[in-house]
Amino acid sequence: METRTVQVGDVLIGSRESIVIQTMCNTHTNEVEATVEQCRRMAAAGAQLIRITVPSVADVEHIRAIRALLRAEGITTPLVADIHFSSATALAVAPHVEKVRINPGNFHRDHDEARRQFLELLDVCKQHGTAIRIGLNHGSLGEYITNLYGNTPLAMAKAAMEWVDMCIERKFYQVVVSLKASNTLVVVEAYRLLAQFMQERGVVFPLHVGVTEAGNGDSGRIKSCVGISTLLAEGLGNTIRVSLTEDPVNELPVARYLADRYDHRLYSSLTNLKLEGKKAVATYEAPSRERLLLDAACDFGKRLLDKELDEVSFAGTYRDETGTPVDIDASGLGAYLADELLQAARRRFYKPEYVACPGCGRTMYDLQAAFEAVKARTSHLKNVVIAVMGCIVNGPGEMADADWGYVGEGNHKVSIYKGKTPVLRHIPDTEAIDRLLELIESDAKEA
Ligand code: SF4
Repeated sequence: METRTVQVGDVLIGSRESIVIQTMCNTHTNEVEATVEQCRRMAAAGAQLIRITVPSVADVEHIRAIRALLRAEGITTPLVADIHFSSATALAVAPHVEKVRINPGNFHRDHDEARRQFLELLDVCKQHGTAIRIGLNHGSLGEYITNLYGNTPLAMAKAAMEWVDMCIERKFYQVVVSLKASNTLVVVEAYRLLAQFMQERGVVFPLHVGVTEAGNGDSGRIKSCVGISTLLAEGLGNTIRVSLTEDPVNELPVARYLADRYDHRLYSSLTNLKLEGKKAVATYEAPSRERLLLDAACDFGKRLLDKELDEVSFAGTYRDETGTPVDIDASGLGAYLADELLQAARRRFYKPEYVACPGCGRTMYDLQAAFEAVKARTSHLKNVVIAVMGCIVNGPGEMADADWGYVGEGNHKVSIYKGKTPVLRHIPDTEAIDRLLELIESDAKEA
């Protein structure tokens, strides 16, 4: 899709440019040296944009210090300030970073006041050459928009268009838009609608594409690739973030793979494809296990999401760490990959669906360890969506369609949510998974 081009520092984002890859720090922004160190590793791993949370006006000084230290070392990667809730912080930080991400859903509770503050932010950004990302999330749509359209992909796209229109009215064109969800179907539908609406409007801003709260490991990578590749294959997406509940540096090889593949610099290791109705048998000669997973997710994600296919089975080989070919079917990887792909495309659920945010500077506990522990204790459950979220400020609002939420509060305390309702608060983290399991089991008995 032909888009405008947006300049973020010395990085250009838009349809004529290569796909830009980005990630986000999970350090505390007030720990300046730790954040600088993480940025160094991200830049060395190929991050073209780095996002850092700025929870309060007091943190503006911290991101300024981080930026100054990076620039002094010759690291010129543009910085994006991530803002939730505080328009005052957005206004204060805009002159000091290359881009500001705002979440309109929580920019201000009052819709008219949110509009007024956003227009003020556009003026500050215009004055300082700062770009903006209008970053909506499925889980945090404003009440105003959900009353009109429900909590749907249409609501996400309509909400984004309100903010897009304000930018157009103000003649502010340094704008990137994102509509993230952890549900791949919702993500794809929302971006398709937004692309259509912007084309009808006659002004098309670049898209930042990602599947939020995708989790970690194989599942997080496959889910991200299914959602992102479906959109990139349709020409939707100019910058991408793969969100993993891991060291954020791990996101970059996956993002680079996707960017290279859809910039046509990299090709799938698929060597043969047999179709029998809506069943596919795919043969690969993959250079590694990870490459097999990514190739398969991109080769079949869109076809499964769009119901062109119902099933895929896998044959051929991948190479292990020693370079030895391993039979995909005989090793059991083929069956596992088919299960993972069908779940990522939301066609068949063979295990709980996990929603986990990547964590950021707002996270006050060991999110990665907690997520692993929750997965280990709940993997036997079926037909349940469990969210593990990094902060009590944003986590509950963001965990869109989760049945249960485990939200770390900090100070070794956890809140447990049933849907959007907190059912236990401030419980010790040593008891939290037991209590979560008790609640899930008693709920299942009552059903
Ligand atoms: S939900 Fe997770 S990623 Fe979002 S603000 Fe909280 S800790 Fe950060």
